[in-house]
Amino acid sequence: MKTIGLIGGMSWESSAEYYRLLNELVRERLGGLHSARCVLHSVDFAEIERLQVAGEWERAGDVLAAAGKGLEAAGAELVLICTNTMHKVAGQVADAISVPLLHLGDATAEAVRAAGLRTVGLLGTAFTMEEDFYRERLAGHGLEVLVPDEVGRAVVHRVIYEELCLGVVREESRVAYQEVIGGLVRRGAEGVILGCTEIELLIRQEHSPVPVFPTTRLHAQAAVEAALAVAR
Ligand code: GLU
Repeated sequence: MKTIGLIGGMSWESSAEYYRLLNELVRERLGGLHSARCVLHSVDFAEIERLQVAGEWERAGDVLAAAGKGLEAAGAELVLICTNTMHKVAGQVADAISVPLLHLGDATAEAVRAAGLRTVGLLGTAFTMEEDFYRERLAGHGLEVLVPDEVGRAVVHRVIYEELCLGVVREESRVAYQEVIGGLVRRGAEGVILGCTEIELLIRQEHSPVPVFPTTRLHAQAAVEAALAVAR
């Protein structure tokens, strides 16, 4: 089993899910007392969020690249960035390390394609929904990506930073997300990517009329597949 390196803390609410999922998935695959070999570098999210708002992505990338190098030095044989948004600096991190960076967009797009879908809605932070770095990665896998309208995007973004990243799960926010999902489905979405690693704390399959693609779980599954792909 390979050692998985996690660049986390963005937020720690979802990093805790990554840790639980990696261990559960390894136990499912190997049984008994088996658990995931992993190393976590958890940042102070307030510092990263400040850099996001200031548009200082290169500095944020430096922080994550240094974390990636540290994970490699600590024995990581593959690295995950445990947030969709910070894949904006995935290239900077990948360039800093000599082990593979397992891209969240690729793992997600592969799951969508495996489900036989092509047109998907994307929920995430404003950065993820509005900028090119993530949508283009998905489009590179042949997906057509729909994002909510301006009002919907503002709601989805606000709930992530003001609630989910603080561990707050509110029924009224779930209803608001369901309305946004309904709008995407009416526009032709055959599935919805929960493209922020905290959204699956709020939205599960039973809350959506179309298949949901929970990125934390999909990323963890891809990591375990990669970690167990070679001689154990
Ligand atoms: N965890 C979130 C994501 O997957 C948002 C937090 C962040 O800005 O990194 O995009």
